[in-house]
Parts: sequence; C-alpha cells; structure tokens
Amino acid sequence: MEHLPQMTPARLKALHETGLSSVGDLLRHYPRRHEDRRRFAAFSGAISSTGPLCLRGVVLETKLARFGRKSMFTLLLGEDAGGTPATLRCRWFNMAYLSRALQAGQNLVIYGQPKVLKKGGVIFDHPEFEVISAEHGDPAVIHLNRIVPIHSAIGPWSSRHLRRLIHDTLADLDEDATEEAVGGAREPASSMTLSTALRAIHFPRSESELETVRRLLAGDELLEMQCVLLRQRQRHIRGEAPRIVRDNRLLSQFIRNLPFPLTGAQKRVLGQIYDDLDRGHPMNRLLHGDVGSGKTIVAAIAMLGAVAAGHSAALMAPTQVLAGQHHENFVRLLGPLGIPVELHTASTKPSKPRPPGPRVIIGTHALLFAESSGDPLGLVVIDEQHKFGVRQRARLAATDPHPHVLVMSATPIPRTLALTLYGDLDISVLDEMPPGRQPVRTLVRPHGKLDDAVKFVLGQLEAGRQAYIVYPVIEKSAKAAVKTAVQEYGLWRERLAPHACALLHGRLPAADKTAVMEGFRRGDIRVLVSTTVIEVGIDVANAGVLLVENAERFGLAQLHQLRGRVGRGTEKSWCVLLAGESAEDKLERLQVLERAADGFAIAEADLALRGPGDLLGTAQTGLPPIRLARLPADLTLLEQAREQARNLLTSDPDLLRSPRLAARLQHWEHQIFAGVA
Ligand code: ADP
Ligand code: MG
Repeated sequence: MEHLPQMTPARLKALHETGLSSVGDLLRHYPRRHEDRRRFAAFSGAISSTGPLCLRGVVLETKLARFGRKSMFTLLLGEDAGGTPATLRCRWFNMAYLSRALQAGQNLVIYGQPKVLKKGGVIFDHPEFEVISAEHGDPAVIHLNRIVPIHSAIGPWSSRHLRRLIHDTLADLDEDATEEAVGGAREPASSMTLSTALRAIHFPRSESELETVRRLLAGDELLEMQCVLLRQRQRHIRGEAPRIVRDNRLLSQFIRNLPFPLTGAQKRVLGQIYDDLDRGHPMNRLLHGDVGSGKTIVAAIAMLGAVAAGHSAALMAPTQVLAGQHHENFVRLLGPLGIPVELHTASTKPSKPRPPGPRVIIGTHALLFAESSGDPLGLVVIDEQHKFGVRQRARLAATDPHPHVLVMSATPIPRTLALTLYGDLDISVLDEMPPGRQPVRTLVRPHGKLDDAVKFVLGQLEAGRQAYIVYPVIEKSAKAAVKTAVQEYGLWRERLAPHACALLHGRLPAADKTAVMEGFRRGDIRVLVSTTVIEVGIDVANAGVLLVENAERFGLAQLHQLRGRVGRGTEKSWCVLLAGESAEDKLERLQVLERAADGFAIAEADLALRGPGDLLGTAQTGLPPIRLARLPADLTLLEQAREQARNLLTSDPDLLRSPRLAARLQHWEHQIFAGVA
C-alpha cells in the first residue's frame, strides 16, 4: 500500500490500525452509504421532506456563538442554482472548530434531516457536509455528478480523502478475466469479475447497478462465512470422542426422584443429546430455550450420564455468581449419588489431593480455559453462550480427544439468523415452559413515577416477596447522566427500610458475591441492588419484582433476559422498567416488552429497531464480518450461500477450483485458530 497515491507513513499507519493492511482490505472498506450527486434536491423541498436530503449550495455567511464552554456554529447556505433567493441554515453545537473549516464562498454538499422551525424556515442540525473544492485532477469526476460513495472516515482519512484514494486505486486495478467470478454459481446471470464488482460497489453508475453488485458481494461474504462454519462442522464430525452409552436404569431413577416431572421438550432434547453422545464422534449441539425453560436440569442429566460412563464433565458459566449457583444446585442434585462436584473459580481452587475418578466440574469460562492440565473431559457444557463464539468452540475442539460439547443459550436469536452464527452446530430447542408459570406483568413508566415504583416494591416486600433493582452501570465513570448501583444503593436502603438490602456487582470480591447471593437465596436479604451481573441464570423463585432504572440503556433482548429473573415460581411477578430523565421518547421502544413475552418476538422487534449489528457481533465470534449483507432481509441470499457452500465443499473439498475463496477461508480460519493451540 506504500506506493498508493498520497500515501504518507502517518496515513499508512492509520489504515493499518483499522485492520486495512492490503489493497484488497482497502477496497473492501465498503461505503457506508452513497449520495446521488447527479441532481440535488431543491431547497424548497426541504420543508416537506420526511427523510434525509442531499443538497448543494454556497456558504453565504457563518456565525460562531459561544456560551461559556458551549458553542453554536451556524451557517447560511444559498441555493447554488443562481438567481433563486432560497436559503437555509445549518447548525452545529459544540464544534467550534468548524468555524475554521467552513467559510463564506465555499461550495458545500450537505446531507441530513431537515427540521422545520416554528418561526418559519428550515434548519439542518449537524448535517454531514463536504466542501467541494478544486484540487488536482477534476473534482467533478470523483466527487460530483455521479453516485458518490461515503466511506467511514479513518483517522486522518476523511470520507473525501478515502474516496480519492479508492478511486485512484481502482483505476490501477488489473482486470483478470481468468479469476473466479463474484456470485459464480449462485447468480450466473449477473456474475462479474471481482475488480468490476469492486468498482461498482464504490462508484456505481446507477442505483440498480449498486443493488446488483451489493447482492453479489454480500452473497460471497455469506458464502465465506458458511464455508467457515461448514468446514468447522466437518472437522467436528471427523473427530473422535468417547462413546457415552446411556445407562437407562440410572437415568430413569434419577428423573423419578426429581421434584417435578420433565417437560415433553426436555425429554425430547435429552433424547437428541444421548443419541449424539453415543456415536463416537463429538457432539456439537446448541440447546436453545427461552429464559426459565429449564436448561440446567437437561445439562445435569447429560453430565450425570457422562460421569456414570466414566468421564468427567464440566459446566462453564459466564459469571462467578452463576457458577456458584450451579455448583450449589449440582451438589444437591448429584451429590446424593456420590458424584464429586467441584467448583473452580478464581477464588475457589479445589483442594489439592483429589480422589481419582470421574467428576463434575463447575467453573467460569475464563478459568476452565486457563486450566490446561487436569483430567480429559468427556463432556463440556457451556451455559449462556452469548459471550462465547466460534473461536472458543474451535479451541475446545482442538483438544484430543474432543470432548462432547453442549452449548446452552437463551439469546432469543431469530431462527432466521441462527444459521449465520451457529451453522457449525446442531440445534435443539426447548419450546415448552415448565407448567404453572405465570407470565411476568411488565410496566414501562417514565422517570417521574419513581415514587410509585418505590411504593410498589415496598408492597411486594410486605407481601413476603423479594426484589431485584438493576442499574446499567456500577459506578460513575464518565459524564453520562445515568444512575449507578453504588450511588443508589444507599437510597434504597433508606427507602425500603427495614427490609434488608444488599449490593451486588461484578467488581465485588468473589467471596462477597457468594455471601450476598447465598443471603438472597436464603431470604435473609430481601432486595438486591445490582447490575447486569444478575442478567443470566440466577434462579430465586421467591423474587417477585424486578425494577430497572435507566431501562432505555439496555437492549430489548437484554431486558428480556433480566426479566427472566422473576416469574420463576408459580406466583405472580412484575417487571417495572423506569426510563431515565429526559428519556421520555424512549418509552415506545420499551413498550414492546409490555406486549411481548416471547423471546423470539422480542428479538425480531429488537432487530427491526436496531439492525443486526448487535446480534451479529461477528468480531467476538471470530467469524468473517458481515459488511454488505442485511439480515434478516437477505435471508434468501443466506440460504443460497449455504446451499452453494455445501455443493462446493462436496464437489471440491480442497477448493482447488476456487483459489480465491480458498485463500479467504484460510485467512479467516487462521484468525479463528490463532492462539488456540
Ligand atoms: P434456564 O433455562 O433459564 O436456565 P433454569 O434451568 O434455571 O432455566 O430453570 C428455571 C426453573 O425451572 C428452575 O427453578 C428449575 O428448577 C425449574 N424447572 C426446570 N424444569 C422444570 C420442570 N420440568 N417442571 C418444573 N420446574 C422446572
Ligand atoms: Mg440458565
């Protein structure tokens, strides 16, 4: 890249730091949107526009007003057409430096959402803008009179800079007619060479060309991802794992002694798990079940089977608090059968001399990974996998012999997306709640209703129930105006006296966390003032109310998880979501939770509201990033890509006929396995 036009060491460094280290990477820095600068909207249209507009004009005057440390920069833009007197204003708060960059006489393209002022006129607050200046070469060719790419800026590279860099790089790109086509077998009619596709995605000649090429490249992106997942899956399938034969007598006796009968779904899923365990190849199964559907007992029964067959089994939990709870549960469930149950967390190392033989080990993800030595494991169960991706699974599979792996998740990921994240796993679903559950009543309230909420919590406490009070952050760090668990804890102790309150958050020493959780479980502590540390897994049936402050700070799926902490017994339970101050406009989003009880419906709503970015945090899963595919809208594309991946890997397992794809896969797999060994 050093030889690219206008490259300096500092600029090169900025690109490298963003992970762009080759021309190929640079050209895959796709535009985040395009602007049609062939014709600009008329200023007069701004008054009635409901969406964002792209306008061109001349800066007529600018003004910087300062109020103490705050500032407001305004600019009057005149319509460029000449003769027409139409003008409008743009305004930026606390960006005083713009007064140096923007001056009267400049030609400007702006993009933003117009706002009609009560006193008349139109204003753009914080529009995106670009100064159209003469530069070497003809700016009109690159920056104007075409559909122009808008790239995310990178360090010193503005969108305009990047446009020129990418434009010039594309111009030098060799056409290689022999290379495999983008889209290939999937869309033979529109397939094209990679260089043509890259030119068109950055500088399309029409909206329709843009959409065609976006689909082609998005499909190839999904193809790469599906190939990675399928190859991962094949690796699992070829591996060897201990055969765990089901001991029917032991299992039915254990199940008969449980305080409740298993649900039909639990029985069905156990059947699937035991079939996997008995095959001699590693199980790789995702157990999906909404919060409270009873995944733990399924895990316990599977682990019992492993130990009975002579293999140790481990359960990994995302937090110490949850590991502690599982440990307590498993001691109660499996202890009477004489099965040793050990807890491994940062603060609880097992006592040194251990009796030989298979055992159950409960610990945190991090810790169990760190322990390289120890007995080989026959079965590993990963609870609450949402912080656990392909990379971690690959790491487990890298041990020899492979353990069987059961991944449990309540992340209500829409079925449509499960393929993209869990394509390497078989999926079981617990789609039936244990009987007798009452739906949790959810109430969304503005900040002003705090006093009512306090009274409500008090009422529940008087009635003998327990409560969770949840905050988005532990302690004040930045300027963000949110309440914090530590600050509010003192207030709640006063408000709810004489009921015993305790503070629980991730930064407490482990022993304190354990003591607090035990106190809460016993009922000595009536109220937990907490953070999302209680988000997953915690199971205290007497908890009758969950109050969340600054609820707008959480995603809907996360709130649904949190809400799963109550409604675990047979009595009525409540979830109260209080919005923060000046978050009145966020109530509507939260109200989805008042209506929907089902995790899948909520996930779909969240997806529609926020886009898939959060769900598909591919960076942490280790999968190739999804840049151009829009899910779930591009679901058909995803299914086609999966089909194509299957065919390709069957007909040409080493991808000898698809060298570019082979190289890309090697790149991703290298990243997945980096540090695994
Ligand atoms: P999750 O799927 O969210 O991990 P848990 O495994 O914590 O759910 O189960 C929630 C509660 O339901 C626990 O108290 C558990 O003992 C109880 N439970 C599990 N299975 C059944 C069942 N078949 N009938 C009644 N209660 C059950
Ligand atoms: Mg659980």
